Amino acid sequence: MLGTMTRSGTAPRPTPRPRDIRDLLNAGEPTFSFEFFPPKNPEGQRKLWRVIRELEALAPSFISVTYGAGGGTRDRTVEITERVATDTTLLPVAHMTAVDHSVRELRHLIGRFADAGVSNMLALRGDPPGDPLGEWVKHPEGLMYADELVRLLKETGDFSVGVAAFPYKHPRSPDIESDVKYFVRKCEAGADYAVTQMFFEADDYLRLRDRVAAKGCDVPIIPEIMPVVKLSTIERSEQLSGAPFPRHLAEEFEKVGDDKEAVRRLGIEQAQRLCERLLNEGAPGIHFITFNQSTATREIYREIAPHRVPAGGDARP
Ligand code: FAD
Repeated sequence: MLGTMTRSGTAPRPTPRPRDIRDLLNAGEPTFSFEFFPPKNPEGQRKLWRVIRELEALAPSFISVTYGAGGGTRDRTVEITERVATDTTLLPVAHMTAVDHSVRELRHLIGRFADAGVSNMLALRGDPPGDPLGEWVKHPEGLMYADELVRLLKETGDFSVGVAAFPYKHPRSPDIESDVKYFVRKCEAGADYAVTQMFFEADDYLRLRDRVAAKGCDVPIIPEIMPVVKLSTIERSEQLSGAPFPRHLAEEFEKVGDDKEAVRRLGIEQAQRLCERLLNEGAPGIHFITFNQSTATREIYREIAPHRVPAGGDARP
């Protein structure tokens, strides 16, 4: 931590690290951050904490924890986020969704986070449990769209609030035009920043950024990146992003076939190329989907942010 000597010559007072995503983004340096999900069992929990500690050594700008579709994993999201806030040096962002919650429950959840010192949230509508594209049923005393959750958070306290953005448009949006319109509405409701759905072509991100800018909206949009470390990740990515995996990238994977190590290396190389292009194009940061593993993320981080890797090479795989 930096400190400054006072005029009276007393001991330097430490300058606190920014605890707010708004401040980090305003500082003008790219942010590097990691996303985790709440594990289902004790073994997954132990693994998650090992990975969090490994990645903590890289001093990321922030980390985020996803919010489950329902049941026990939701409590785990809260517990993990609280523990990150109280027991680590990391800055946590809590994902929150409107699924199956009344406004009263959402206020209670916000209060729990605030009590643990969590002031950064990602406000999402969420998907119906089971089938993400199934009918979305609003809780009778709940919220319909993410912009309402942004407003609720902003009315409740001084939270730094992020929202989701979709380079290929949200699967439910009838067209790009309405997708941008409602994205801008979330920003007008008070969103301070956005994080994208994962994608593989920098141009898709840049087009989204241009569309939003054309509407006069300058909210920073952080790209979310998911390195392909095995072939099954490609299929997963198509389900998550709602877009086909780019043909020319798929062809690169076909050339290395079933060689698992070659697939992993290629995925890391592709993700690194994508991150470098995005940063060169002025993206405000990179948010990595980690799948609660650290190796691929650390390898890419070492290449794209060598100045942030501590002496001693903690970013080695
Ligand atoms: P909204 O912004 O409400 O948009 C949903 C759809 O409704 C869009 O088609 C939009 O254009 C349209 N729309 C919005 N406002 C209006 C309006 N006023 N009138 C008419 N139409 C409107 N899901 C989870 O369950 N847990 C997570 O932790 C989670 N984390 C995520 C993190 C990121 C970075 C991203 C990109 C997504 C995440 N999701 C998560 C998935 C997300 O919840 C779903 O994609 C959900 O379907 C959309 O959420 P949203 O906040 O974008 O919704």
